[in-house]
Amino acid sequence: MRRHLFVILSIFLLLSGCANWGVVDKTRMLMGTQVQIIVSGSGFTRVAKTAAIGKAFERIKEIEGLLSVYDATSEISKVNSFADVRPITVSDDTIRVIKKADEISKITGGAFDITIAPLVNLWGFGPRGVILNKPKEREIHNALRLVGMRNIKIDYARKTIRFLRSGVRLDLSGIAKGYAVDCAIETLKSEGIKNALVNAGGDIYCIGKVSPCRQWRIGIQNPRHKNEIIDTVDIEDSAIATSGDYERFSFYSGVRVSHIIDPRTGEPKSSVPASVSIKAADCMTADAFATAVFVLGPDKGLDFLSKVASVEGMIIIEKKDRFEAYRTDGFKKK
Ligand code: AMP
Ligand code: MG
Repeated sequence: MRRHLFVILSIFLLLSGCANWGVVDKTRMLMGTQVQIIVSGSGFTRVAKTAAIGKAFERIKEIEGLLSVYDATSEISKVNSFADVRPITVSDDTIRVIKKADEISKITGGAFDITIAPLVNLWGFGPRGVILNKPKEREIHNALRLVGMRNIKIDYARKTIRFLRSGVRLDLSGIAKGYAVDCAIETLKSEGIKNALVNAGGDIYCIGKVSPCRQWRIGIQNPRHKNEIIDTVDIEDSAIATSGDYERFSFYSGVRVSHIIDPRTGEPKSSVPASVSIKAADCMTADAFATAVFVLGPDKGLDFLSKVASVEGMIIIEKKDRFEAYRTDGFKKK
């Protein structure tokens, strides 16, 4: 039996405040998830805050139009359609995301890999839609041959992408939401906003505070019980992103497999870990690291995180009847 579920990763935002700073809170469906933008702070009318939020949503829409593999007219879809035959020139935004993805692929030993698309599609998690039967060994083997950053040529000076093998495809879904959050924050800042939160399906960046005496407090949900919070983290002028096996997953023979695929084996990760939360200076890094550490698993993931300065993480593991959380020193409560 196979079930396929789409569950929006909802991180609870605990907004208890001391004084009323006139919070404006808006949500829109963008990049395949709920995107929430909250603006707080004195010195702006509700109308001005709402207008700034509108501009931030427009910026996210622009990023979606470049990076979404679900939009056949996006820039990345154009790359996927034509980079087999010639180098395709991309925008500053797209090359910035590909550059970061390339860096993170290198430092994670290929655990994070945007050439994962053929496997994502094969396992029914991509734009080609769901599958009915588990892929055959031969199909996995064939898709694996197309995966690996060595299969693409990136010319940073010319801002071009060229595939070096026919059939290579890119999937930026593990990093694009984080970048969109960073861009939305930049837009809010350019409008003069100093206190805000942007949350794209669990990829979050907070600036300033929610009220004069309270920081933005993010609740990390129990991977199996949506309304329970496992931990809370206060965030100011930085990002936190969570990858969970509960966002999108399938069951094969009773085993839960997530939408995150190990580029080394070609198989989706089964239920260890249940979720990974990463704190970083920017949300694009936090997003990509969360996906990468999910692939690395608890031991290697924690070891890897402890060696990378400026990035902290928490890995939640499901045991028979409970969850265990492992945190890097910087993630632990002071
Ligand atoms: P996230 O929700 O940020 O963890 O991203 C998960 C998405 O990234 C999946 O739905 C895939 O589209 C893509 N993905 C899956 N496995 C990988 C991987 N190993 N490296 C990069 N992206 C991946
Ligand atoms: Mg990610």
